[in-house]
Amino acid sequence: MTSLRPLVAGNWKMNGLKSGLSEAQAVREAVSAAQSTCAADVMIAPPATLLMVMAEACRGGKLSFAGQDCHSKASGAHTGDVSAEMLKEAGASAVIAGHSERRADHAETDAVIRAKAEAAHRAGLAAIVCIGETLGERHAGLTLTVVSRQLKGALPDGATAQNTVVAYEPVWAIGTGLTPSIADVAEVHARIRADLTARFGANGTAMRILYGGSVKPDNAKALLSVANVNGALVGGASLKASDFLAILRAYES
Ligand code: PEP
Repeated sequence: MTSLRPLVAGNWKMNGLKSGLSEAQAVREAVSAAQSTCAADVMIAPPATLLMVMAEACRGGKLSFAGQDCHSKASGAHTGDVSAEMLKEAGASAVIAGHSERRADHAETDAVIRAKAEAAHRAGLAAIVCIGETLGERHAGLTLTVVSRQLKGALPDGATAQNTVVAYEPVWAIGTGLTPSIADVAEVHARIRADLTARFGANGTAMRILYGGSVKPDNAKALLSVANVNGALVGGASLKASDFLAILRAYES
């Protein structure tokens, strides 16, 4: 395991009504109870409609909250969008930028994602910037090229170890039950670390790199033990507190 303090973040995507509050409360209570044994920061990115109510309900605990996306502007005529400042006011400490579902559904480019990450920093939020190759790109031997290109394009020059987290999420592993081999995860994370250190120096060395894509209770320990894997971005398995907590157990001492 790495010496950087890991982060395990649950991305609820477009799931969750008020009933989801009890899942968040269960995570909050377990995280508080495991304070001395769980060596990871824990975060949930609920839908925007639940962010404020969850952050209020879990106030004072160790569980933190993130938005799933933000607009690059602070305010204005952008119907349906949410700004980083709004997320911050609602209780978020971070926001996901450039999830592959945003890249696919909303044609988000690296330049758009970079502007969103800059907006996060402007608002005082950490940006969790997602990168990852498609299956076609992996089969074509382009994984490292794609990852380096996305990293270069999507990360702002002002990224630091405190305000930015990188999430490597192979697109073909998201929601499919498929995961790359341990050797493949190690290879990509080593490349990301090398790119970050070359560009950001000590900040790049200390920036957390999460793995995301079908992390489940039964594969978490193996995936999260890989060098340069500093935590996980978890989709489906974060919707059920018992599964999410089982993943967190990978970090129990
Ligand atoms: C995600 O959407 O970021 C994700 C990793 O999803 P899942 O864990 O369901 O593959």
